[in-house]
Parts: sequence; C-alpha cells; structure tokens
Amino acid sequence: MKRLSLFALCWCCLAPIAGQDIPEEQILRYDEVKTALDRTECATHTAELSNDTLLTAFAKAAGYYPELCGVTIKIRYGAIKTSMAARPVLWSVVFNKRSHRKYLILINKNAESEQARLLYDASFNASVGVMGHELAHIADYSTQSGWKIIGTGIRYLGKKYRRKMERQTDSTAIERGMGWQLYDYTYHVIHKADISEKYRQYKLTYYLTPEEISDRLLKTDR
Ligand SMILES: [Zn+2]
Repeated sequence: MKRLSLFALCWCCLAPIAGQDIPEEQILRYDEVKTALDRTECATHTAELSNDTLLTAFAKAAGYYPELCGVTIKIRYGAIKTSMAARPVLWSVVFNKRSHRKYLILINKNAESEQARLLYDASFNASVGVMGHELAHIADYSTQSGWKIIGTGIRYLGKKYRRKMERQTDSTAIERGMGWQLYDYTYHVIHKADISEKYRQYKLTYYLTPEEISDRLLKTDR
C-alpha cells in the first residue's frame, strides 16, 4: 500500500499538468498585432529598451486601457526582484498633478536571472498577458491621489494586502479582455518554465493560478 502511494506521488510529480486549450481565436500573434498596431498605436510611452516583442506586447495591452492614452509611461530596465514591475515615479507623485503623473514599467535588468528569463522565454501571447497585469496597476494608480498611492505602497509590504492587490490586478486584466493572455503567461510560469520552487511558490501565493483564471474564463465564456 505504501509502495503504491509512493508510486502515485511520483507519478503526480512527473506527469505534465495538462493545460486548458486556449481558443484559437484568442491567441495573439506578433506579426498580426505588429501590423495592426502600426496603424492604431496610441503613442503614450517612451522606451529605453530595444526588445521589440515586449514593446509590441506593451502597445497591444495598452489598447485595452483607453484611459491611459496620453499618460506618460516609460519602460526601462531596473534592479527589481520580480520579472516586471509597474510604479509611479516617486517625485511625480509628490510634485505633479494626477493628470501629469509619470509611470514606470521596469523589466528585470539581470538578463541571466530566472525572473528575466521567464519573460524572454514567454510567447508573444503570454507577454501581452503580463503587460496587461502591469498596466492594470497603472490604471489603478491613475485613479488614486498621491497620498493614497503612498499608503498603498506601505500596505503592500504586508503579505495579506499584497495578495489581495495582486489578485485584484489579475482580475482587472481578465475583465479588460486579456484573460487568455494572462492564463498563457501564468501557465508558463507555474507549469512550464525552468524556475526555482521558491519563485513558483511566490507566484502561487500572491497571484491567481492558471486554473483559477481558466475556470473563470470558461464560466464567463470570454
Ligand atoms: Zn502586479
């Protein structure tokens, strides 16, 4: 009996976890998106990186947040612990009016780190999903006063609040229409990517799981 359960345990560890098939029409492809964006892009950002896949994913995801058109968002490399992070520029929170506030999307500058590799190994479709998450943070900050943003920054240090905020941010990206893209990225992180168990657990703790996202999408038929 003991041997049987050990076998079952090992099989569970080794068996690949079958993901939900993403509906064909929901998969965004770089070439198609790039061509369409050349005609419609809302030029709201400046970029200090040359990765065209990520920039195109950013521009595509930004289209789901029309309220951010005209908002200054700079994308650059930064010393961060995660793959990507979005935040307001601190001096801009203090000195600028809300309508002139500036934002940053930071990409992990250590290209050899597992967090950066997660991004570079992701499909284009998945890249739109993670950009959709970061832009959901910016869309949220753009509705907040400077004082509220500072308060949010302090509360984010608490694990319970961080989990609530990150899962809510995932929900926003789903509601805006990037559910399958976010599913694609989350599935890549949790089930496919070669990352440490510690980072995988971090993602499972604070973000929606791929299964939660696909359940929600299948229920709402998005
Ligand atoms: Zn986030």
